Amino acid sequence: MSEREAALERAHLHAREYLKTVGDRPVHALLSGAELRERLGGAMPIAGEAAPDVVDRLAGAAGGTIATQGPRYFGFVIGGSMPAATAAEWLVAAWDQNAGVYNLSPIASVTEEIAAGWVRDLAGLPASWSVGFVTGCQMASFTALDTARHHVLAQAGWDVEARGLFGAPPIHVYTSDESHYTIFMALRMLGLGADRVTRVPTDAQGRMRADALAAALRETTGPAIICAQAGNVNTGAFDPLPAIADAARDRGAWLHVDGAFGLWACMSRSRKHLVDGITRADSIATDAHKWLNVPYDSGLALIAHRESHRKAMMLPAAYILEDAAERDPHEFVPEESRRARGVAVYAALRSLGRDGLTALVDRCCDHARQMADRLSSHPSVRILNDIVLNQILVRFEPATGSADD
Ligand SMILES: *Cc1c(COP(=O)(O)O)cnc(C)c1O
Repeated sequence: MSEREAALERAHLHAREYLKTVGDRPVHALLSGAELRERLGGAMPIAGEAAPDVVDRLAGAAGGTIATQGPRYFGFVIGGSMPAATAAEWLVAAWDQNAGVYNLSPIASVTEEIAAGWVRDLAGLPASWSVGFVTGCQMASFTALDTARHHVLAQAGWDVEARGLFGAPPIHVYTSDESHYTIFMALRMLGLGADRVTRVPTDAQGRMRADALAAALRETTGPAIICAQAGNVNTGAFDPLPAIADAARDRGAWLHVDGAFGLWACMSRSRKHLVDGITRADSIATDAHKWLNVPYDSGLALIAHRESHRKAMMLPAAYILEDAAERDPHEFVPEESRRARGVAVYAALRSLGRDGLTALVDRCCDHARQMADRLSSHPSVRILNDIVLNQILVRFEPATGSADD
């Protein structure tokens, strides 16, 4: 057996064992940072080690993982991984494709194109929307807001790619008071500033108040970008997208929607009304590594203005063909050389099917409802949010009854 075959076989065995037992082990890490350094650290070897030994050493430290894939992990907003998606990721590593351009990897380009089309269909978006496969929702928002920056400044006669923001017409940016911090991070990286935005007040569930947005929009003229949210990370609440879309249209503003997990409500039979109006956005950011359950890292930037999207992202390099018949994935993302992320998305969608994805989303939401009902019957538990999706916000309060309650 060659060294490569032996290493792959070891990895296969270790991975199977890990996934077989991850549901039964404690959720927390089984090894401390010090123990991990003990097992993995030391001086870098002078002579290289055999590949299977390197794999064994890493697998021997797998206790340093958190069992987020297991059924008892409820922290943060995090996904597991569908079997087909995990296995597809192995193929991606074995293929070792540079997914930047079609000519370097037709399969990476075509799987992205197909998966993008399926996601557009699921969300009810027209085929004219372009899709970039990025590392997560933060980069999806970065990509979308970079496109927004290009678009609203081009409308004002300003070439931001060539001239930057120095001397540009100011862009008025509106977020909600409860926009996810990654929106502010994206704005910061784009030179739009995290603190110079207008933060629109929210209601008790964390929804942007559309009346307050409309009033704030009336106070400015010129280029404007609105960042709304489909799925508040604490409450699951959705901003009132139809009213926000009306306000954006009236003002001629770009409407970006952070739908990291919330976009997938479009699959639910009973909850799809939550995303009503989202198809009127100019851009949507979502994660594939949360509700779609593909391995980290994976997010999607969906954009209604393909040409602006390409212009904002494209490199002016000689080897890039302007009117190529095939899709070059790098034209829709900030990266150039890149992993074939679309393959795992394709695999997850194909293995779930529409019905499977609907069942997955509805099951999670139903479980949240059930958990909230059962938790709320306990005297020291208070549920702080309306359960609209799969988010439960819980406060544990000191019992007012007997001391040993
Ligand atoms: C998780 C999340 C993000 C950030 O997504 P990453 O994939 O971690 O970059 C943004 N917005 C919301 C609402 C989220 O839940």
